[in-house]
Amino acid sequence: MAVAVVGAGPYGLATACHLQAARVRLRVFGRTMESWRAHMPDGMLLQTVPAASAIAAPRHGYALADFRTARGLAEAGDDRPVPLAEYVDYGRWFQEHLVPELEQGPVRRIRATAGGFRLLLDSGEEPFAASVVLATGAVPYAYVPRVLRTCAAQGLASHTSRHRDLRRFTGERVAVLGAGQSALECATLLHEARARPTVVARTSAVLFDPPPPSGTADRSRLQGPGSPLGRGRPLLGAVSRGGTAYRRLPAPLRMELLRAVPRPSGAWWLKERAAGRFPVLCGRTLITAEPGYGVVRLRLLDEHGWPEDLVVDHVLAATGYRVDIRRLDVLDPGLRRSLRVFAGAPVLTNGFESSTPGLYFTGLAAAPSFGPLLRFVTGTGFAARRVTAAVTAAKGR
Ligand SMILES: Cc1cc2nc3c(=O)[nH]c(=O)nc-3n(C[C@H](O)[C@H](O)[C@H](O)COP(=O)(O)OP(=O)(O)OC[C@H]3O[C@@H](n4cnc5c(N)ncnc54)[C@H](O)[C@@H]3O)c2cc1C
Repeated sequence: MAVAVVGAGPYGLATACHLQAARVRLRVFGRTMESWRAHMPDGMLLQTVPAASAIAAPRHGYALADFRTARGLAEAGDDRPVPLAEYVDYGRWFQEHLVPELEQGPVRRIRATAGGFRLLLDSGEEPFAASVVLATGAVPYAYVPRVLRTCAAQGLASHTSRHRDLRRFTGERVAVLGAGQSALECATLLHEARARPTVVARTSAVLFDPPPPSGTADRSRLQGPGSPLGRGRPLLGAVSRGGTAYRRLPAPLRMELLRAVPRPSGAWWLKERAAGRFPVLCGRTLITAEPGYGVVRLRLLDEHGWPEDLVVDHVLAATGYRVDIRRLDVLDPGLRRSLRVFAGAPVLTNGFESSTPGLYFTGLAAAPSFGPLLRFVTGTGFAARRVTAAVTAAKGR
């Protein structure tokens, strides 16, 4: 096999079908849209508009709108948020049509060997690949603040990616840490499941994106009216225009932008369901979390340094993902140690290749190199084209 693509989420699927179109021999491993099926809450709606949620294909006809047409569903505009279940069906449809050869199962280990890599599959097979594209997503990098780790070990705190069904918290007091879409949507779903959420945010206010304008949509632009990423995110639009230019910025500035863009906010359609429905404590920093008698006592400091206690039954960390390839168990420890790393992420070339020739990273692990675009499905086209060009060029090396 020339190339192994590991991962069958949007980035793995997009890469696989672009490589196929370039007539590269490949095998693709992973369970279709597994992160979306197993690590996101039931009832979730996508934050990005349909036009920005398409998985990139090498030819026309595989966007979300095409999927809806194929299923006999009415056309839907940017003012209709996409339900998670529909998006998972879209991903499956995309995979069945464009990556039918996907081998539904994990790769257990990848180690470097002469001229390439040796993969270990569940079956015990150990195929050789000249190149490997890792599209293993964000789940291995789920970030739980250190202060919560004792509670997490006792089952009193957890990351949002651990929960599909938030109804298990019905009747319970839940502190939701964060101010982004995940925090605000989880708190809303908890409230709707008759749990008692309290959002605890470091920011001085929680924000919601403005709704998309109705009528004429200029989808050619990343930002502004009809923007695929949504309105009210000017910096994200600017930063997302040039992944190549982003990579040339000094590394500390790249990390700073990655932290700041996009600013945490809720989707426009969430405001009506969230605002005023549950307590939101803004400007609070979590200092300690003490477990005891089946509950957690949180010590918070407000913007003026005044302490305040909050007692809850569970703490839900909607605190995002931090790339740290030391946590990527699929890579043999020797291979992991040999990679050049910056702030936990692999250092990548313009073609997404790591310091180990033939090993490529795409999706979130490439965001510190190419910017926030890589955190969203709308970055799949840029990444898949780059990886394909690099892999085909490497064949001739
Ligand atoms: C709650 C939430 C909401 C989001 N909403 C949006 C949104 O509205 N719009 C948007 O653009 N983005 C959204 N995102 C971000 C979105 O998840 C990513 O942009 C997208 O999923 C990245 O695709 P990916 O293929 O890199 O990763 P994933 O979708 O995570 O896919 C990774 C795949 O790799 C597989 N895998 C992992 N390890 C192995 C292995 N060893 N062997 C084989 N397979 C393996 C997994 O099973 C999975 O199928 C959201 C993220 C979260 C957490």
